Amino acid sequence: MLIDSFGRVLGDLRISVTDRCNFRCLYCLPETEEAANFYRSKFDPARNPNPAPSRSLLRSWKPRNELLSFEEIERVTRTFVALGIRKVRLTGGEPLLRNDLPRLVERLASIPGIQDLAMTTNGFHFARHARDLRKAGLRRVSFSLDSLDPANFRRMTGRDGLQEVLQSIALARDLGFDPVKVNAVVIRDLNHHEVEDLAAFALRENLSLRFIEFMPLDSGRSWLKDLVVPGREILARLRARFDLVPAQPSHASETARRWRFRQPIQDAGPSTGTAQVPIPSPNPGLDDTHVTSPGAEIGIIAPVTEPFCGHCNRIRLTADGQIRTCLFSVIEHDLKARLRSGVTDPDIVTWLHHVVLGKEERHHIGEAGFEQPERTMSCIGG
Ligand code: SAM
Ligand code: SF4
Repeated sequence: MLIDSFGRVLGDLRISVTDRCNFRCLYCLPETEEAANFYRSKFDPARNPNPAPSRSLLRSWKPRNELLSFEEIERVTRTFVALGIRKVRLTGGEPLLRNDLPRLVERLASIPGIQDLAMTTNGFHFARHARDLRKAGLRRVSFSLDSLDPANFRRMTGRDGLQEVLQSIALARDLGFDPVKVNAVVIRDLNHHEVEDLAAFALRENLSLRFIEFMPLDSGRSWLKDLVVPGREILARLRARFDLVPAQPSHASETARRWRFRQPIQDAGPSTGTAQVPIPSPNPGLDDTHVTSPGAEIGIIAPVTEPFCGHCNRIRLTADGQIRTCLFSVIEHDLKARLRSGVTDPDIVTWLHHVVLGKEERHHIGEAGFEQPERTMSCIGG
């Protein structure tokens, strides 16, 4: 087993399969004019020592030969699974930009011992690959969806893609991916007014929706504490509108505090007057007042205001073969160099035990001296 020096047993491996992305989310790759304008409007030189963000960020994608091959990813995953990893999630960048992803899924799904194989995606290209992914053995998928308002969706992601993402979510449900989860990063003055509408969407569509606090992992280094909407505030807003009951945590390392809807709500429609798009549904004609949604739930992930590091059982593999023991690690461990220099599997095992002993006790967001990692969420893999 992989046990760190604080006694945490690692069970969850996140594999980034590419650092590339077709979106420019304002909290991840804020490279659009709209993102720059938003951050400039929030910038207060008296409180922030960094210069106001500009669009001229220097970033380049990793050359393809620096990315781990499918053979290398499979080999590493088998080693991790032999060491007790049971959950594997494919992420990125945008994982669906990696050519032939279903082929990788097939290889990983055949590894005995993996209990949970999932993927996180922005959903834009999902429809094109969904059937192949399902056939290859992918069981679970999480979509990022921060807004139900087409204009705000575009502002947040840099793309006109809301309709495609909604169709992807509906398709995932139709194809039997279970559960279908949706992640929404909540940012003050940007989409925090949409939390009720997003929750109503989860209820109507019988989805599991996670609200996530904005973390300082954006490529523009534009994160500001004031833009974080604390999980407690999100919950208070939701409880004012919905009758929520806490769900039992399924395991200690669960990052989300989850809530179920006690009864169908009376008014699951839009509350803010945002321009709603019709949501493709397998049950057309379903009326909000008669919805029953046994699977619908909301979760709050509050890594900034209520850290859960004490139970963290995750480890990450970047697309270019670096091991990260924390999202906020400032050092990485070069597995690719080892793989490509011909090490044996037992050597990798010994090395991984050593690496894991250095897993950070916790993150230090908001504390004096906090250092934002050089690599950003799109490179690390969320
Ligand atoms: N491109 C895929 C997507 O967006 O779902 C997968 C990669 S993305 C980096 C994984 C998750 O990280 C997404 O749910 C996204 O919302 C989240 N994320 C990215 N930047 C974040 C930030 N600064 N704070 C909190 N969550 C973030
Ligand atoms: Fe958005 Fe995911 Fe792409 Fe980051 S990696 S810009 S969160 S879609």
